[in-house]
Amino acid sequence: MTETTTTTRPVTIRDDVVIGGNDITLILGPCSVESYEQVRAVAEVLVAHGVRLLRGGAFKPRTSPHAFQGLGREGLEILRAVADEFGLLVVTEALGVEHVPLVAEYADIIQIGSRNMQHFPLLWAVGETDKPVLLKRGFMATVHEWLMAAEHIASRGNERILLCERGIRTFETATRNTLDTNAIALVKATTPFPVIGDPSHATGRTDLVIPAARAALAAGADGLIVEVHPRPEEALSDGQQSLPLEQVPALVDAARRIAEAL
Ligand code: PEP
Ligand code: MN
Repeated sequence: MTETTTTTRPVTIRDDVVIGGNDITLILGPCSVESYEQVRAVAEVLVAHGVRLLRGGAFKPRTSPHAFQGLGREGLEILRAVADEFGLLVVTEALGVEHVPLVAEYADIIQIGSRNMQHFPLLWAVGETDKPVLLKRGFMATVHEWLMAAEHIASRGNERILLCERGIRTFETATRNTLDTNAIALVKATTPFPVIGDPSHATGRTDLVIPAARAALAAGADGLIVEVHPRPEEALSDGQQSLPLEQVPALVDAARRIAEAL
């Protein structure tokens, strides 16, 4: 029989928000920060629904170098200004080692993207900050490789790590990726790290985001990171998988119902 008894060690941010405790954590926001107005429109809806964590990319890891690459420092400034105005916390990605000091100045949680999961110098750099790290699973990475990546961060002294399952590449092409709910249950049971599900990148389709969010929570995730946008059809990245703001209440309600059922 395999032992599955590790308890989750909650991560507390600014003595305020606890991830991996009794409550489900929602991290919502646009794929890319596009403008102050865009982020502000999102923040208003988050506050109305008791969501405390705002996501948004300022440095974007785009497949094509011709696609929108993010607003960089200006994007970080927008996130911070809006978050401070509304009492929210910021989750945003550091794309390279050279970004870490800047991102750490603005972010409450530093995101490591799927494509960078084994970028070891980047893992060491965030491991030397005092900010929690949301470590996305590489879309071609095994669970073992993902956990070893977490060890690289922890080896530099930072054990405030959130493991994010964002879907892996499989033979299935009907959806962007395949949400690995087995992995969620496995890392939840065998590591002390809180686990976050990402139904947006796992499915690549707005209409599948809420069902996949339910699945992630049912498998044991402590929270969700979900892309939302005031006008998904005009988004500069990942509009096809973004929830319009009108669907935030349905997501929040679905998360609450699953949490109550567990
Ligand atoms: C993102 O969160 O927008 C993102 C780029 O995610 P991933 O690294 O999982 O593709
Ligand atoms: Mn995205």
